[in-house]
Amino acid sequence: MRALTVHPGVPGSARIEEIAEPHASAGSVLVKVLAVGVCGTDREIIEGSYGAAPAGEERLVLGHESLGRVLEAPPGAELAAGDLVVGIVRRPDPVPCACCAIGEWDMCRNGRYTERGIKALHGYCAERVRIEPEFVVSLPPHLDRIGVLVEPTSVVAKAWEQIERIGRRAAWFPRSVLVIGAGPIGLLAALLGVQRGLSVHVLDRVTSGPKPQLVRDLGATYHAGAVNEACPGVDIILECTGVGQLVFDAMRSTSPGGIVCLTGISSGQRLLEANIAALNRSLVLENDVVFGTVNANRRHYEEAVGALARADSAWLERLITRRAPLERWREAIDRGPEDVKTVIDLSPPPSPAPLSR
Ligand SMILES: [Zn+2]
Repeated sequence: MRALTVHPGVPGSARIEEIAEPHASAGSVLVKVLAVGVCGTDREIIEGSYGAAPAGEERLVLGHESLGRVLEAPPGAELAAGDLVVGIVRRPDPVPCACCAIGEWDMCRNGRYTERGIKALHGYCAERVRIEPEFVVSLPPHLDRIGVLVEPTSVVAKAWEQIERIGRRAAWFPRSVLVIGAGPIGLLAALLGVQRGLSVHVLDRVTSGPKPQLVRDLGATYHAGAVNEACPGVDIILECTGVGQLVFDAMRSTSPGGIVCLTGISSGQRLLEANIAALNRSLVLENDVVFGTVNANRRHYEEAVGALARADSAWLERLITRRAPLERWREAIDRGPEDVKTVIDLSPPPSPAPLSR
C-alpha cells in the first residue's frame, strides 16, 4: 500500500512509497484512510526541523489529522465496519506521569509521550492504518466531508475548556473574545466562541481572500488593524499566531480579570523590545492570566465532534480550501496565501458527495 513518508531531520526527503500493511500490534481497529489534513507541524517535519521516526526505523509515515472508515473492528469495541472515525494523535508516556495515568496525555509532565505522524509513531497518511480502539473517535456520518477538521478542533476544544476552568476562579460572565489569526485554528476557535454565545472578533493581517467573509458568515467581526483597537476591554484573547508582537499586544489588551490563551508556536528568531515591568504591573493589578495550551485528550476530541456536528457543514467545508490526491501531496503542503486548511485526499470520491447535515 502507498504512504507518504519522510526521513525526519533530512529536508526534502518526503516521498510516496510502498510500505507493508500495518502490523496487528499497532491496534485491533483496521481503518481505510479517507483524508489527512496538513498543518504547520507537517511542513516543519518535511523541512527537516522536527519529528522522529519509530525506534530502529529511518522513515516516518506522516499525517496526524486523520479521517477514515473502519474496515475491521474487534468484537465489543463499540465500532463497526463502515463507521466514520478519527484517530487520536498522542499516546501516553510509558512511565506514566500523573496526567498520562488518568488519560490526560495532553498535559504530559515528562515529555516522553509519543505522537502518530510526529514523534516515534507512524502517522495516518497511508492507505490503511491500525489504531487501538481506545484511540479511535467515532463521527456521525454527515461529517464525511469535514471530519478531517476534528483534530484541529480538538485543540481549540481543549483551549476553551482551559479558559473556562480558569474563568471559574472568580465570578465571571465573559461577553467577548478576540481571536488573533484567521487560520484553521483561529477560525475553529472563533466557531466555538460563537457556539458559546460570545461576541466574537477575529483579527488577521489579510484584507482579501476567503478569511474576512468566513469570519462574517460566522456572525463574528473581522479586524485587520491593531490588537488594542480590535476589541477594547475584551474578556478573552485566543492568540493563534505565535507572532511575538501580537502575543505582547494581547497581554496588554484585556479587561481586568482577562484571560489570554496562547496556542501559536513562535519560530523565535526576532528579538522584541518590551517593557516587562509595565506588563507585570498590569497583569498583577488586574488579576490577568496568560497561559499556553497544546494538544488534546479523548474528551476534547469528543467535544470537537459535537461542535462540528452542530455547526453549518457548508461553512466548515469552506475552511478546506484545497484537496490534493495522495500522488499530488505536494499541492497540499505548498500552502497558498489564501489557503485555510489543505487536505490530502486518500480516497477521492468518484463524484462529489452530496452536502448533507
Ligand atoms: Zn506523561
